[in-house]
Amino acid sequence: MTVKDKGHNMPTRGTHATHAQARSQAMRTASAREGVTASVDYTKTPVSEIFGQNVFNRNVMRALLPKNVYKALVRCLDHGEPLEPSMADIVANAMKDWAISRGATHFTHWFQPMTGFTAEKHDSFISSGDDGGAILEFSGKLLIQGEPDASSFPSGGIRSTFEARGYTGWDPTSPAFLMESVNGKTLCIPTVFCSYSGHALDKKTPLLRSVEAVGKQALKLVRLLGNKESKRIHCTVGAEQEYFLIDEAFYLARPDLINCGRALFGAKPPKGQEMEDHYWGSIKERVLAFMMDAEAELYKLGVPVKTRHNEVAPAQFEVAPIFESSNVACDHNMLLMEVFRKTAQKHGLRCLFHEKPFSGVNGSGKHNNWSMADEHGNNLLDPGVTPEQNMQFLVVLTAIIRAIHKYGAALRASIAFAGNDHRLGANEAPPAIMSIYLGDKLTEVVHTLVHGKKEGGSAGGKKLQLGVSHLPELPRDESDRNRTSPFAFTGNKFEFRAVGSSQSIAWPNTVLNTIVADSLEYLHNEIEKETQELKDVTKAADKVVRRVLAEHEAILFNGDNYSKEWHAEAARRGLPNLATTVEALPELVTDQVQELFVKYKVLQNDELTSRYTVQLENYCKTVNIESLLTANIAKVMILPAAMEYQLKLAQTITTTKQALGQVMMTEQESLLRQVSQKIGDLYNAVDKLEALIKEGHQEEHGDHGAGDLLDRARFYEQQIITAMTTVRTLADELETVVDDALWPLPKFREMLYIY
Ligand code: ADP
Ligand code: MG
Repeated sequence: MTVKDKGHNMPTRGTHATHAQARSQAMRTASAREGVTASVDYTKTPVSEIFGQNVFNRNVMRALLPKNVYKALVRCLDHGEPLEPSMADIVANAMKDWAISRGATHFTHWFQPMTGFTAEKHDSFISSGDDGGAILEFSGKLLIQGEPDASSFPSGGIRSTFEARGYTGWDPTSPAFLMESVNGKTLCIPTVFCSYSGHALDKKTPLLRSVEAVGKQALKLVRLLGNKESKRIHCTVGAEQEYFLIDEAFYLARPDLINCGRALFGAKPPKGQEMEDHYWGSIKERVLAFMMDAEAELYKLGVPVKTRHNEVAPAQFEVAPIFESSNVACDHNMLLMEVFRKTAQKHGLRCLFHEKPFSGVNGSGKHNNWSMADEHGNNLLDPGVTPEQNMQFLVVLTAIIRAIHKYGAALRASIAFAGNDHRLGANEAPPAIMSIYLGDKLTEVVHTLVHGKKEGGSAGGKKLQLGVSHLPELPRDESDRNRTSPFAFTGNKFEFRAVGSSQSIAWPNTVLNTIVADSLEYLHNEIEKETQELKDVTKAADKVVRRVLAEHEAILFNGDNYSKEWHAEAARRGLPNLATTVEALPELVTDQVQELFVKYKVLQNDELTSRYTVQLENYCKTVNIESLLTANIAKVMILPAAMEYQLKLAQTITTTKQALGQVMMTEQESLLRQVSQKIGDLYNAVDKLEALIKEGHQEEHGDHGAGDLLDRARFYEQQIITAMTTVRTLADELETVVDDALWPLPKFREMLYIY
């Protein structure tokens, strides 16, 4: 079955369909559409057969590569050993043959510039043969390195224009895959992206460096504690992804959704999420058809999506994968978003990843589940069952607590951008204040360690001692667990919940890994020092953990993070509340944070500054686009509709008076006056917004220093956003009084409910 009525919702030029007519047409289109058949029929092809079929994974490599090459590649993947160029040629050739046998014609280095999206430039495998025919080629050199023009990607000032060339380099730790499209397949090779001078121009390079840093420090620490098993430690990540789905017909009738990904206007719907009937509710037929189709595409790409459900807000949903190594998890999340966007369109739907597409109902985030594990899959945040395992767990936990307390502001800054400001610090959980939730049991453990209460509470009870006593059983999944915390321990991992739904998870994970690396090393050094003194590593660990926890327990909070009381309490504890992007971003480039990134070789100073600059620029640009569109939609769509209603009211009054003589029409006249007043107010508000936008542009063409950029961002935050809010408030008020038949924009009560 195909999408019915696709594209018929828009008024065609030349006919005189109004926006309001388009809106009612959109409702009919949306409700008439049916589920679309997926590309895979599971009754004929089981999931096990399609999973990873488009991936050049280890199984494929083992089958296609000579034994010595395969082994060399595995050493490269598992132990970071470099791959000889001659080997790369063999891998490239096998990859090409495999891709071509599956229908690929082109290849691309697939990378993640600082735009936060993925980038690709396709090259075909053909090179011309002597006889006028074409031969298909792909060498190790082409596999390993590409030279895209970097001049049109954001560099935050580190790449001067004269060295326009950028370099992409193969990342063998994330498997190559085939991207299917209607007319063929493209071999996508995950790569890093750097400048000629080796500066990272992407999100992947720092992530890889940070994983290496944290892995190295973690290994050093667990070795000191007596762990002889682990040889390599990496990070594991599972990103739960929230999103909205609305019918495409509504989307196309909303310029704000098309251009900004969020509704810049729209009164709160009479029915929001208060009935609590959407969360985990039965999934609507068309939506489920979409989910299954998108999942099938992801299975082919080896993305292990696992759960699907309705989220809190109407039209909001969630998908979660099985966790993977953080680099692959990050690539897979980028792929997931892309596949969801594409598949939604196939189903006559649009997938919105914006953090707050519809004000008045819940926003969307990405819960970044994070932990560390060794090469055997032993999870460092698994409390374990033996006293030794418990000790390792508590030492690692202590390091994380210290990291978040010490560098929470930098972590907060890693998720700071215009879209996320609508959630964090904007009366929605989680808040902008970083704190850690441990749950009651584990908090009790920490409390006991710091304040020395006896285990079990009774006098004479055994003292809780690291490496000697058992931890009480920690609940894996507390049903009452706190959903308002930005950073929560959930049994055997931490869940960083303040990440925005649209953003790449690479950067927040990079910052998280780096700050944890620092604390792991700190604990290692302290325990090592104490061991010399106490001649016993267990006693040393016990002593250090107690001291460090005491210094950093202020970051722990199990209560309602959303409450006013917490805001006051957090201030008392000296925890920063960086409510907006502009307040948060400078925290990325403090001396302390810069030193940290340099020390762990994750980012040099100019590389870190460039991320700060790109984030600030992105903020200004986003708000600028939103403000231009706000002014425009108000002027060319909302005001004309409101004035038509004004005219209708005036005509009604005049005509009635003509017909009946001088009757009293107090109520109607009052309504007219009210409408006319609001129209005037809206005009003035738009005028003011436009004047400020102009001012913003003048500032832009002034000086270009980083300090000025921060000033400009502040101007956008304080002046432009305020003026936009005024325009919106007035327009939304008009929405509730103007004749529904004249209203040009699909309303929330329609978009969020009609499928
Ligand atoms: P919940 O949010 O209810 O706790 P799950 O326990 O299923 O749901 O986990 C949510 C996400 O956390 C999933 O993507 C899961 O794969 C991931 N996850 C589980 N264990 C780990 C781990 N050790 N490291 C990273 N992510 C993990
Ligand atoms: Mg979760």
